[in-house]
Amino acid sequence: MEEKRNENDRFMLYVIDQYFKGKDLAKQIPSRPEDIIEFIDVDLEEPTTVLIDSLRDRTKSAKGIPAAVIGIGGGSIMDIAKAVSLMFTNEGSSTRYQGLNLIKNPGIYHIGVPTISGTGAEVSMTAVLTGPEKKLGLKCEWTVFNQVILDPDLIASVPTDKWFYTGMDTYIHCIESRDGILNNAYSTAYGEQSLQLCREIYLGEKSGQTKENDDMLMVASLMGGLSLTYSEVGVVHAMSYGLSKILSEKHCYANCVAFQHLEDYYPEGVAEFKTMIKKHNITLPTGLSKNWSEETITAMANVSIKLEHMWNHAIGLDWKTKITLDTIKDLFRRL
Ligand code: NAD
Ligand code: ZN
Repeated sequence: MEEKRNENDRFMLYVIDQYFKGKDLAKQIPSRPEDIIEFIDVDLEEPTTVLIDSLRDRTKSAKGIPAAVIGIGGGSIMDIAKAVSLMFTNEGSSTRYQGLNLIKNPGIYHIGVPTISGTGAEVSMTAVLTGPEKKLGLKCEWTVFNQVILDPDLIASVPTDKWFYTGMDTYIHCIESRDGILNNAYSTAYGEQSLQLCREIYLGEKSGQTKENDDMLMVASLMGGLSLTYSEVGVVHAMSYGLSKILSEKHCYANCVAFQHLEDYYPEGVAEFKTMIKKHNITLPTGLSKNWSEETITAMANVSIKLEHMWNHAIGLDWKTKITLDTIKDLFRRL
């Protein structure tokens, strides 16, 4: 990392989860006085295009273009670091680039240091952003980190509920990646390995938040991320995006809320997931839809149905003959 220091305007931009402000990790960062350290509260909202644009603009007007961006945190921080790296070299608002291969130029050097495991954002080729119109990633080969540092000690402080929800994101990635038409030998190899690790961590004799399991969870997350990168996610993520966009529910939690009701799409996966929930005394809400208006349900279904690549993978090329807006509205009514 140090050899990058002389690039661009010779300073580093650190984006760090606000949780670490004042904690040991933040004190150990090898920063220099010229560097910019931005602590970001990821609990307020998932990363937005507005946040990325303003982070880029204020860094540029204060000091210019950094030599590198270093993200230290969970999936939200990983996505912020990846997206801002690209936006230093691509003009205009990040909203322009939400989609596949819309980015014109490679970003600046970027490093990911995950502190919670499961989303696979540390290895994926997308940086998911919520924009005014859509929640969609900046997806291209340049999004991928140039360097990733995995240290299981960094995830030891994650509270149990977040450890469960975020870890389950990787489990769900593997199930969805496997159960669909884009499944292939490469995605299956990573997915199977990741599922095996998830089973040990969440169901094995030594299950729970231990140092050994944290070590495995970091690898499971990485492999789950690779599995989905080379295949696709499915019905769970299509619904989860609706919950996040319309009701601001967090990605991993929203996945869990939806997944428990999708046994007809993922029978074995949901059954195993329910065993994990029980083992770790996790309570997920049910009966939510009773309090949702018709408008809310329609709005969520509209977000969901636009994710055609996910439905196509999960249901098949003729998915439009099987899945309509009404089918998806009924799926939301199960929640
Ligand atoms: P997060 O970054 O949203 O953080 C979740 C919570 O955990 C926060 O409260 C955070 O402060 C806390 N936390 C993080 N590390 C901690 C630690 N070591 N100790 C204590 N608390 C800690 O978490 P996430 O679930 O990893 O990420 C969700 C985001 O990832 C969403 O924005 C979602 O859209 C995105 N995502 C991206 C991809 C991708 O491929 N790019 C894939 C899935 C999800
Ligand atoms: Zn996910």
